[in-house]
Amino acid sequence: MMQKKNVIVLGAGIVGISAALHLQKRGVSTVLVDRQGPGEGTSYGNAGIIEGNTLFPYPFPRSIRALTRVALKLATEANYHAGFLPRIARWLWNVRQATTPEQLEATARVMRPLFERALSEHEELVEAAGAQRYLRHTGWLRVYRSENALEKLAAELKLADEYGIPYQKLSVEESLALEPSLSPVFKHGVLWPKAASYSNPLGVSRAFNAHYLSLGGENAKGDAKTLARANGGWKVTTEQGEVHAEEAVVALGPWSPDILEPLGIDLPLAVKRGYHWHFSAKGNASLSRPVLDAELGFILGPMEQGIRLTTGAEFAHRDAKPTPVQIDRLMPYAKNLFPLGEPLEPKPWLGARPCFWDSRPVIGRAPGQKGLWLDYGHGHSGLTLGPVTGRLLAEMMTGSTTFTDPAPFSAERFSKN
Ligand SMILES: Cc1cc2nc3c(=O)[nH]c(=O)nc-3n(C[C@H](O)[C@H](O)[C@H](O)COP(=O)(O)OP(=O)(O)OC[C@H]3O[C@@H](n4cnc5c(N)ncnc54)[C@H](O)[C@@H]3O)c2cc1C
Repeated sequence: MMQKKNVIVLGAGIVGISAALHLQKRGVSTVLVDRQGPGEGTSYGNAGIIEGNTLFPYPFPRSIRALTRVALKLATEANYHAGFLPRIARWLWNVRQATTPEQLEATARVMRPLFERALSEHEELVEAAGAQRYLRHTGWLRVYRSENALEKLAAELKLADEYGIPYQKLSVEESLALEPSLSPVFKHGVLWPKAASYSNPLGVSRAFNAHYLSLGGENAKGDAKTLARANGGWKVTTEQGEVHAEEAVVALGPWSPDILEPLGIDLPLAVKRGYHWHFSAKGNASLSRPVLDAELGFILGPMEQGIRLTTGAEFAHRDAKPTPVQIDRLMPYAKNLFPLGEPLEPKPWLGARPCFWDSRPVIGRAPGQKGLWLDYGHGHSGLTLGPVTGRLLAEMMTGSTTFTDPAPFSAERFSKN
């Protein structure tokens, strides 16, 4: 059976679901294609934080001490597969250039229109999808173990002041008043009260997808690699039959290059792999919000499944075997911050953050391929930015006035480098 739609959206992560939902809402008939269930890729395993307050992207380590710790595989916040480094050396060099103090601020300003609307876009979809039970408006807490940590934050906090983003510097006692189960192993806390979080990111993707279906959208199971030209548009083969459409959107997160490279579109995407593992809490211990151990680079997030410990970045081939050594390095610190009990699964979950070196996603037309659109590369903030970038893409595709200038997110920005 052959179906005809206006748009095929490839990839049913939070990014693709949000794009399909925004298109469908605008009367564009859409089919959302994935090889697994909605939200079961990277979007399944994140820390659940909607970071409207995010300003500076993750920097390349600059101090000799930090670099040495990473190189010697002592760092909790990063790990790497030595054999893979030559393949991403140029990308890492570009990250280094893009995260000088001046560039951190420049990126924060370029990304601000997206982050500024991120939470309200989630709230709108949560309301429409009836997913209120997952959303917590309790902010997120970052704790710092060293005395001089706040000095290093000065530039970011100054920018937060300029944008009117609220934060509260907390003493250890004030932090413990918010989260009584934490141990006082840190020196400072900073609460970002306008951030929000989800207790079950998979539940949220499923709820948004159900809302999309209620608007007349369709899901189909299939391999995005079957995307091909047909009658001036695109077609894809699915278990539900062949689907034809005038336009297609690639929202395959870390797998996007699998489809784009054969079409001659080679953008500088790398992955930062990350792990999570759920633990029970000892006794009556609990958390009301995600807690980031900022210098050690891990998050403890309260989820329906348990306390979710998420790690920082691992530089390795996307499909290489899991090597969760960061979890081993972190465990003593995580346990001295919060009374973690037993792991609730036999082994950690592994995901891959799809990252461009300039810490911006690509949203817009695919260069040289008529009727093909791109919506990927959301890096550390794809849960946060899925809905707002879905809106931006849908506005572009339907020729509406966009809420912000999409130029900084175009694929063409890389042709200048
Ligand atoms: C440990 C960790 C913690 C994180 N914490 C946060 C956080 O707190 N807040 C935040 O904002 N972000 C966070 N992120 C980042 C966020 O999870 C990602 O940026 C986001 O999930 C990317 O969504 P996506 O829809 O682009 O990709 P995905 O969710 O991976 O979706 C891509 C989809 O494409 C499908 N697919 C791939 N190949 C094919 C194919 N050939 N055929 C058909 N389908 C295919 C996959 O099945 C998948 O469903 C975190 C990430 C990690 C790893």
